Amino acid sequence: MKEGIHPQYGEAVVKCACGETFVTGSTKKNLHVEICSKCHPFFTGKQKFVDTSGRVEKFKKKFGIEDKE
Ligand SMILES: [Zn+2]
Repeated sequence: MKEGIHPQYGEAVVKCACGETFVTGSTKKNLHVEICSKCHPFFTGKQKFVDTSGRVEKFKKKFGIEDKE
């Protein structure tokens, strides 16, 4: 592996919109996310979409969920 080509990989502090912070490995020092494993409905099992409907539509599309209304 050559040096000087890849950005340095280290610890990054990730801050979520819900206030949760956690540390992960990343090439970036600080990251900001709007949803994390603590507040994401996929992980919590709760229907707590805090985003706009447009964002939810993207979410559904990503997971292959389609509205049948
Ligand atoms: Zn969160």
